[in-house]
Parts: sequence; C-alpha cells; structure tokens
Amino acid sequence: MNGLVTTVGFVAVTAVFVALHLRKTGGSGGAADSRPCPRCGTTLSVDAQWCPKCKAPPQAFDLVSAKIVTEEKKAEPGAAMHALVRADVCVGCGTCVPVCPEPGAIQIVNKVARVDADLCKGHGHCAAACPVNGIVITSGAAVQVVEVPDLSPRFESNSVPGLFVAGELGGRGLIKNAVNEGRLAMEGIAESLQGDPFKGDVSDGVHDVIVVGSGPSGISAGLEAMHQGLRYLILEQGTLADTISKYPRKKLLFAEPLRVPVYGDLWVTDATKESLLAVWQTVIEKTGLRIQSHTRVESVVKEGPIFMVRCGERTFRTRRVLLCMGRRGTPRRLGVPGEELDKVLYDIVEMEAFEGQRMLVVGGGDSAVESALGLANQPGTTVTLSYRGSEFGRVKERNREKIDAAVDAGKVELLLGSQVKEIRRDVVVLEHEGTLRLLPNDGVVVRIGGEAPYPFLERIGVRIVKKELAIEEPSDSRSGAHA
Ligand SMILES: Cc1cc2nc3c(=O)[nH]c(=O)nc-3n(C[C@H](O)[C@H](O)[C@H](O)COP(=O)(O)OP(=O)(O)OC[C@H]3O[C@@H](n4cnc5c(N)ncnc54)[C@H](O)[C@@H]3O)c2cc1C
Repeated sequence: MNGLVTTVGFVAVTAVFVALHLRKTGGSGGAADSRPCPRCGTTLSVDAQWCPKCKAPPQAFDLVSAKIVTEEKKAEPGAAMHALVRADVCVGCGTCVPVCPEPGAIQIVNKVARVDADLCKGHGHCAAACPVNGIVITSGAAVQVVEVPDLSPRFESNSVPGLFVAGELGGRGLIKNAVNEGRLAMEGIAESLQGDPFKGDVSDGVHDVIVVGSGPSGISAGLEAMHQGLRYLILEQGTLADTISKYPRKKLLFAEPLRVPVYGDLWVTDATKESLLAVWQTVIEKTGLRIQSHTRVESVVKEGPIFMVRCGERTFRTRRVLLCMGRRGTPRRLGVPGEELDKVLYDIVEMEAFEGQRMLVVGGGDSAVESALGLANQPGTTVTLSYRGSEFGRVKERNREKIDAAVDAGKVELLLGSQVKEIRRDVVVLEHEGTLRLLPNDGVVVRIGGEAPYPFLERIGVRIVKKELAIEEPSDSRSGAHA
C-alpha cells in the first residue's frame, strides 16, 4: 500500500513539474491555454517564450498578426486620461520620472516604470519623453492603437512583395526585439529565395538582399544572411549602429543577454552604450560582416523581379530588400566640419544626462525650442540657441512665450541670425552679426528637420495601417516583463 501511495505521489509531482516545464519552455499545454506558433503552427502554451520547433519567440509576431483597425474607438466624453506603461517595452531608464509635473505619479519600481493611477492626471509628458514609445495615454482600455507597416508573419510587406521590414521600424522597440526580428526576417528572405536559380550568384551583379540600416536588427540580419550563404550588403547612412552611438555618453543600456547569428552569445546586460558598440565592433571584425557606411538609401524602386536601391549617384540591384532603418528617420545635417564628433546629437531624450554642461542647440522650430528649454531646466547647464533666421517663424505660441521668458531670465542665450561654421572638441565656431565667435562647448543638438521614416515607406509603396495592441502592464516583479 505504502509503495502504491509513493508511486502515485511521485507520478503526480512529476506531472506537475513536467507541466510547469512545458509552460515555461514552449511545449504543448492544454487546449485552453495553448496557441499555435504564428510561424510554424506548433502548439505552444500561451506564455511560451520560444517555439521549440522553429526557435522563434512567438511574441515577435504579436504586432504583425494583430488585427488592422479601421475605426479608432473614441474616449467617452469627460473620461479621465491616464498613463499606462507597456511592460514588454519599458527599459526602466527613468526618463519619464523628472518630466512628470505630478510628483510621485510615475516612478521606477523593480527596474520598470509604474504609474500611480490616483496621482496621474494624463498630461502625457512621460509618453512624449519615453525613448522607446513604452507609455500610452488612455482613458481606460488597456489597448494601444499603433501605426505600423502592413506586414506578413514573414515580415514581408503585404503591398510590396520582396520588401521586408524588421526592428523598430516595424513597430516594436528594444535592442532584443530588433536582434530577434532581424534574424527572423532574414530567415524568411532565405526561404523566399529557395529555388531561385540565381541565389548567391555574383555573375549578374545582383545582390540576393540589401539590408538598409546597421542597428541591432540590421547587424543581426546581415549575420543571418552570411549564415544562409546569401549575397548581401548592409547600407548605413551614418556609422555603425548610429542610433545607439547617438545615445547620451555613458548611457546605461537596459538589455538582456542576446544570441546573434554566426557569433553566438552577447553579454550586454546593463552595459554602457560604449561597451555594446565595442562588442558589435568585435563581432564585425571576427565575422567579416560587410557594412557600407555613409551611404544613405534615398529610394527603392521595383523593376520586374529586381529592386533598384538608389543612394545618391549609386544604384544597387537586388532580389530582396530588408529595411532595418529604425524610427528616428534621417535628420538634416549642418554639413560643417566636426559634425561627426560624438558630442553632436540630432535628438535628445535624457535631458538630465547633460546636467552641468555647456550646450548649443541649433534650429528655429518647436523641437529646437523644446530641446533648449529642457536643457535649460537642468542644474548648472548653460544653453545657447542658434538660429540662422532673424526671427522664429514656425513656433507654437506656448513655446514662444516660454523661450522669451527663459531668455529674459538669462537661462538661454538666443543668437538669431547666427550660423555654425565648425564644431571642435571644446568649442563651436559661430558666425554672428558678421563676426566669428568661439563658444566654449560640451555638446551640440541639431534640430533642423529631416525625413521621417513613414513618409519614406509610403513613398516606396509600403502600406501603413493602424493596429490594436493589448498593453501588458508591469507586474510586481521585473522578471518576465521582457518576453
Ligand atoms: C536614448 C535611447 C535610449 C534607449 N535605451 C534602450 C535600452 O536601454 N534598451 C533597449 O533595449 N533599447 C533602448 N532603446 C531603443 C533601441 O535603441 C532601439 O529599439 C533599437 O536601436 C532599434 O534597433 P533597429 O535596428 O530597429 O533600429 P536603429 O538602432 O534605430 O538603427 C537604424 C539604423 O538605420 C540607419 N538608417 C536610417 N535610415 C537610413 C537610410 N535611409 N539609409 C541608410 N541607413 C539608414 C540609421 O542610421 C541607424 O543606424 C533606446 C533608444 C533611445 C533613443
């Protein structure tokens, strides 16, 4: 009898452990809490982190498989708006905390932003400041409507066959997601080229695939292209991983251990951006990954089965295109000597990183004025705003009033009718009222416009649609937030 009890007990305990293990690792669960892998159809438990058959994280397909919405639900009149944090996106950087006018309404708890619903008034400063689009202002529904390219579960455009999109441009932020999507999209490209008699053939001068952008998604895609034996090239408008290299200096990255094709594991957890860039550089040296930098893709045109990728005077021909361009667009540059220095930024998100520094902001629009005002609020930061026009022409009234007040209070020095001539390590050379002036300087923020990525996509035929995304709010523990 004792033996029977022990055996039954052992079987029951084992069954519980097996069930827990399957839930964790992606094995089949019961029908009620299971779903098919969006890529290969294998049955997975709903919270599976990866598919044991095709090795894809099912979460990578949440957005591409989400329903397209034609009509956005309007908030009830008078409904109170408040902030919701997307646990799957928040990197816990804390950018949202100091910009909130309601003390204590948003705080970092267990490395993730948390909103106190009683204190939050839905101002939206946190959502605007978040560098990873991880905060939504809503009247209650835990659903976010996002504008994204219309893609198949293979990350291929549904309106331009042969053209693929991965990484943040597809709508999901974070380095980890970009790395995963770059690989998955390239696997899809390799699959779509199967049976193509010219695959890998260099004699006709046509590439199998051109990857646009060398951020985490582009690097991962390029490595997978190598692994698949494809004839590939990565084109980059700036230098390697330009978005990351333009983070504030010494910025701490909130990332998780990553596995990239060909190279293997990357340990970048809570590293600085400098150490992540050094790791990418090592990966490139060790693998011989081909990246052509300072080559901006201006248009992509399909002629029969071949794409023409135009970059200034040069045109590359390719069977497939993978856009890994991120969402920050192509900022207009000043075109002056020294602009390549790492103290020159085209966007600024973490104002407090510039505390106590001597900053120059260039531009005459709302974004330049807002950057100058944000910097002027940092303790000990001195701010000069340079604009070549003799007066601001296209600035919101509210911003105009604020900048006038900041100038009157001596918080911002305004140089209208001035032009940057050269940027050096410790100074900027400015021409103002016919004379050259040397301005002591630690950082330059250039906000003079540029091309946003979605108009570029629409110009080349990629349909942009609205999708509804369920928001996964932070739980008490950080673990599991980044599926
Ligand atoms: C300040 C800040 C802090 C962040 N902190 C974190 C963090 O801690 N952890 C985290 O996981 N994520 C963080 N993120 C988000 C993360 O950086 C992005 O999600 C990630 O870099 C997206 O990778 P991507 O490859 O899709 O695009 P990107 O990294 O943006 O790369 C796109 C590349 O394409 C190039 N490109 C664009 N247009 C063209 C063109 N026309 N021709 C040629 N090249 C082009 C760009 O120069 C760029 O190099 C942060 C973002 C910012 C801005």
